[in-house]
Amino acid sequence: AAKTTNEPVLVYAPRLDSASAETLSLLGDLRHALAHHELRLYLQPKLDLRSGAIVAAEALVRWQHPQRGLVPPVQFIPFAEQTGFVRQLTLWMFEQAALWLAAHASAQAPLRAAINLSTRDLLDPQFPARLTDLMQRHGVEASHFCLEITESAIMDDPQRAEHTLNQLAALGFKLSIDDFGTGYSSLAYLKRLPVQELKIDKSFVMGMSDDESDAKIVRSTIDLAHNLGLTVVAEGVESQAILQRLQAMGCDEAQGYHICRPMPASAFAEWAQQWAK
Ligand code: C2E
Ligand code: CA
Ligand code: CA
Ligand code: CA
Repeated sequence: AAKTTNEPVLVYAPRLDSASAETLSLLGDLRHALAHHELRLYLQPKLDLRSGAIVAAEALVRWQHPQRGLVPPVQFIPFAEQTGFVRQLTLWMFEQAALWLAAHASAQAPLRAAINLSTRDLLDPQFPARLTDLMQRHGVEASHFCLEITESAIMDDPQRAEHTLNQLAALGFKLSIDDFGTGYSSLAYLKRLPVQELKIDKSFVMGMSDDESDAKIVRSTIDLAHNLGLTVVAEGVESQAILQRLQAMGCDEAQGYHICRPMPASAFAEWAQQWAK
């Protein structure tokens, strides 16, 4: 790759002698990717199961690598978390979503952008101030965002996470527990944390069609969420049959390939227009 900045840029080298050299190379690659616009904002719609309207879009990162093609987040997010690079990534995704909202919010007024947070964000005391700064710069409001946090990100350091989440809630962000049912201590913390939404992990939703215990878990989670006054989202909806079953169970929102796969942000407005017809 051509060096266009003064920063040293390490080129991807699949076969290196030491693990640390490989780590440095990938970290250099990620920094390069961010600086050279190789990271992309993809969006996946969240469907309101009562109204049939699209109410939100989840921001999912992709890496458009010049040699390796479209790299999915599983191949670099764990690494970005290890090295702390994920904090820059979160802010970048938030900013891209803010730009997208600023451009489309008037056309699709009630849309919210959902951003995935990492445990690193929850441990950064400056994180809420950084988001406030970005929102002021782009003229968007906290009520236009949903922040998705996994149970494991919270359980890393529950006290600090709780402190940050309280600050984020006070700013007006909607908070959502992602991958619900796959982590630990969910119930004790659910009661205390200022969250408004549960996202049922896709493993349960995808298993519903041929595993009755998955279906029971989904049904119980919907009831639990509603009893606690939370909205509930099912992810991983891959068929019309599951969509209808979720609707019958009273699930509030759904997301999944059956509705739409994640798409480049630039394609979203047109897709949403077609959906509304
Ligand atoms: P997640 O937050 O649980 O996101 C849902 C994942 O399920 C996405 O994978 C999405 O494309 C996929 N998915 C959606 N509908 C279906 C479906 O019907 N069937 C199946 N099989 N999968 C479906 P993706 O985009 O590959 O992201 C994987 C994970 O990477 C995310 O899981 C999230 O943990 C992480 N991730 C993605 N983008 C970001 C980001 O910007 N920041 C952070 N911190 N993590 C991210
Ligand atoms: Ca998520
Ligand atoms: Ca999830
Ligand atoms: Ca996940």
